[in-house]
Amino acid sequence: MKKIYDLVIVGAGPVGLYATFLAAAKNLNPAVVDALSYVGGQLTALYPQKHIFDVAGYPKVTAAALVEELYGQVKQYESPVLTNFKVVNLEREPEGEYKLTAEDGRYLYGHRVMLAAGAGMIVPRTLGIEAAEAYLGKGFEYVVKDVEEYRDKRVLIIGGGDTALDWANFFTVTAGEVTLIHRRSKFIGFEGSLRRLQNSTCNIITDAKLIDIAGDGKVESAHYQVKGEDQPREIKVDRILGCIGFTPKLGFLKEHNFEIAEGSIKADQFMRTSVEKIYAVGDISNHPGRIKLISTGFGNVQIALNHIVSQQAEMEEDQEEASLEERVDH
Ligand SMILES: Cc1cc2nc3c(=O)[nH]c(=O)nc-3n(C[C@H](O)[C@H](O)[C@H](O)COP(=O)(O)OP(=O)(O)OC[C@H]3O[C@@H](n4cnc5c(N)ncnc54)[C@H](O)[C@@H]3O)c2cc1C
Repeated sequence: MKKIYDLVIVGAGPVGLYATFLAAAKNLNPAVVDALSYVGGQLTALYPQKHIFDVAGYPKVTAAALVEELYGQVKQYESPVLTNFKVVNLEREPEGEYKLTAEDGRYLYGHRVMLAAGAGMIVPRTLGIEAAEAYLGKGFEYVVKDVEEYRDKRVLIIGGGDTALDWANFFTVTAGEVTLIHRRSKFIGFEGSLRRLQNSTCNIITDAKLIDIAGDGKVESAHYQVKGEDQPREIKVDRILGCIGFTPKLGFLKEHNFEIAEGSIKADQFMRTSVEKIYAVGDISNHPGRIKLISTGFGNVQIALNHIVSQQAEMEEDQEEASLEERVDH
């Protein structure tokens, strides 16, 4: 007999992890899947060492530590957490359950689906220079995999948003030497992070663009062009981190009948999407008054699960009444 979960959660970011824990605690039998090889979504992929100050119960917590706590909550139960499971298809079976198929052919069934897919697949924006691809994994990265690889190294960060500023601030403490190159004079990241960086030892270069990377099999130097100058400049570095954002990719969600607004999925006050028995929570959910934050995503989960549980109770009551009527008739 095929196994049908009460709820399949797509995305094991902070919101999907919290949903998995809470669904299990409410005796709904959940499973969670994620395309990445790890849990934590944006927190693990984009800013693991950044401090978060606005999650209830923590005066200050790094993103990585928060993910560890959330995962710890999930592990109190035996709900499956399937990583490397990139959902590419969602279809409804004749009996009403949903079948979710991964890129590698694996599949799961769920009576209901909760989309906690953030901005979709986390695909880093690339710099568009050949050398970046050639040195990828050889000292050049778009996502920090292990902060220890940067310890006491000469680090170059490219970008002007939150991720670039956060990592630059972080590495001014642990790396040997930090340089930040941003192609504009104005930064788009949080002002407080910029002020902190300006008061640190970081060498900030604005109006400049990385044009080449050189080294014998691994990064040894970078060449950049400053606006208005004739010749590119060279800087000796050991590690380069490209932080120019990520492209949201809704992927399979675009091919279904979801109502989409501003790149995310429309949901009502119960987090229901326009498709029956499919909910959208966290960053992917576009509902009135939404704010893309971890704590609001947690709130969405409570609302959606409460709705699912009350619907289930109503259904069971109706079934009980129907069977009672049947017995009276006979
Ligand atoms: C630099 C930066 C700093 C931030 N700082 C804060 C902060 O201080 N406080 C705060 O509250 N918020 C902060 N945020 C926002 C916060 O990270 C998001 O609101 C939060 O990550 C949303 O969580 P989520 O679980 O909805 O989505 P995500 O974290 O995006 O997780 C979604 C997951 O879904 C997976 N997924 C997507 N599509 C598929 C698919 N087809 N199949 C399988 N899996 C899929 C992805 O791989 C991903 O792991 C920050 C964001 C950034 C970028």
